[in-house]
Amino acid sequence: MNGMNSPGRSGDVDFEVVVVGAGFAGMYLLHRLRNEGFSARVFEAGSGVGGTWYWNRYPGARCDVRSIDYSYSWDVELEQEWEWSEKFATQPELLRYANHVADRHDLRRDIQFDTKVDFARWDEVNRRWLISTSNGDTVSCGHYVMATGCLSVPKSSELDGIDDFAGNVYFSGRWPHHEVDFSGLRVAVVGTGSSAIQSIPIIASQASSLTIFQRTPNFSMPAFNGPNDAAEVAEVKENYPAYRREQRYSAGGVVRELPTKSAMEDSEPERRAHFEQGWKSGSLGGVIAAYNDIRVNQGASDLAAAFVHSKIRSIVNDQAVAEKLCPTNHPIGTKRPCLDTNYYQTFNEEHVTLVDLLETPIVGVTDSGIETSAESFEFDAIVMATGFDAMTGAVVAVDIRGVGGAELKQAWADGPRTYLGLCVSGFPNLFLITGPGSPSVLSNMMVSIEQHVDFVADCLVHLRDAGQTTIEADAGAEAEWVQHVVEVGDATLYPKANSWYMGANVPGKPRVFLPYVGGVGTYRLICEDVVDDGYRGFVLHA
Ligand code: FAD
Ligand code: NAP
Repeated sequence: MNGMNSPGRSGDVDFEVVVVGAGFAGMYLLHRLRNEGFSARVFEAGSGVGGTWYWNRYPGARCDVRSIDYSYSWDVELEQEWEWSEKFATQPELLRYANHVADRHDLRRDIQFDTKVDFARWDEVNRRWLISTSNGDTVSCGHYVMATGCLSVPKSSELDGIDDFAGNVYFSGRWPHHEVDFSGLRVAVVGTGSSAIQSIPIIASQASSLTIFQRTPNFSMPAFNGPNDAAEVAEVKENYPAYRREQRYSAGGVVRELPTKSAMEDSEPERRAHFEQGWKSGSLGGVIAAYNDIRVNQGASDLAAAFVHSKIRSIVNDQAVAEKLCPTNHPIGTKRPCLDTNYYQTFNEEHVTLVDLLETPIVGVTDSGIETSAESFEFDAIVMATGFDAMTGAVVAVDIRGVGGAELKQAWADGPRTYLGLCVSGFPNLFLITGPGSPSVLSNMMVSIEQHVDFVADCLVHLRDAGQTTIEADAGAEAEWVQHVVEVGDATLYPKANSWYMGANVPGKPRVFLPYVGGVGTYRLICEDVVDDGYRGFVLHA
């Protein structure tokens, strides 16, 4: 195979594997493919590596899974050497980490930056994918991997008139590379998801006034961020192999004791004390995983929600504002929960105003600000923290044509259909990393990314060793998996929320529960069993 090594334009060339995306998934995949001797080219729309951490540079951006957990496990020297400065590393630190990995493993020479993949067509005669990019490159490859990220396509603004606004509009997921200083400015933030909740306290510390436009209040817990505890880090590092193994077979990709008790079993004071312990743990699961039934039993869920409501009321001085901040229209944890630093406290500041869009919806944006059904607000800058076309957005943004010219977008018109979140029937030799139907966004994603990358790399080695060139999901196996994903999701409270997990944040997107909620460890065992059983559910061809 005549793989090209020059980092410039590819021209009309062949690779064994083309990977789209140079986030943590694409970077690790490139490393694995190289080590296995495959010729590979990565195409990346951005100008650098890091994916999420390249694009999301808004103030306060950081991970909310501890960095000792949210880090690569495949470079065992790096995991010993790297010192995370805080429990939850900032975006600049995470980007530094990604760049360090790229340098350390000389990844950039096979990554073509500033190049968006637009089109991919399965060539049935030659049994290869033909890929076209925004730069006019066309390449062919035996296998085509979408490492395009679950949260990489920001939603476009749904606000009428946004282009007329005379000030600057910033999207959290496409933040400028230069420093943005809001000092002395009248700033609006639209949205109250994780990105907004991280950035609001920092923007408030700069702006002369900050107005937050909230459609749905979110459950947020304090991060209690700070420097890592040296003794704890030393202990984890000493036991990293066992620790990583435990992560891989855990429920959510993090090491934690699983609750065995129902919230209904404890008395009110016991429950309060237990929730308090969860609140103080500074972790996403603290309150939500305090009992084993909070995401499956409405009664248990209501108890946990009531605890968080009481916390919000105790932090926020103005009780009318506190009530607006208390989420009541979805069960706790069914929209992605948030970890914050002084989020609720920010609403005690004189210059911070909360606008409840459920009471007074946005009518539109004018040249000078935002108009709701009740009031006109004037701003110098608007921050859109309105989220992403999650899990499917980046996949269907590429015009992908499989067997018989079938369009992937069309095949997914009623919701994504995959086998194991990895492959799609009718689209041979196409792999998705952390695709819909896999645990992905319900986990510490580093664990899920590594599992999928290893699955794909091992599979390509298997095909090569067996003299086979093509692998495709069997339609029956895919249908069964899709059904299983729905059934497992329906056994929880997740479908009750208008969340991005349900596709409900994007107008017109089919309402389908996108990730697999069966757990990281369970899912891994299923994948291992599939492989041990000769890639059960896949059709392999010479
Ligand atoms: P990404 O990092 O999204 O990378 C995908 C890359 O593909 C992007 O660089 C994109 O430009 C490129 N791309 C997409 N389409 C194309 C195309 N057609 N052509 C060329 N290039 C393309 N997860 C956690 O587990 N813990 C956290 O604490 C956490 N925090 C997060 C914070 C934020 C602000 C966000 C947005 C997400 C967070 N996540 C977190 C999820 C995060 O996305 C994953 O953890 C992980 O970084 C995803 O890596 P990836 O390589 O799969 O995708
Ligand atoms: P998000 O969770 O989808 O939040 C978007 C917010 O914008 C929601 O409050 C949403 O309201 C609101 N919104 C969307 N469209 C709107 C409209 N047209 N008008 C008014 N309001 C609108 O997006 P995000 O905050 O970027 O986070 C996305 C995911 O990325 C997170 O869930 C998480 O997985 C990850 N993330 C993690 C961290 C971290 O702490 N490590 C930080 C940021 C992001 P509705 O709820 O009503 O739709």
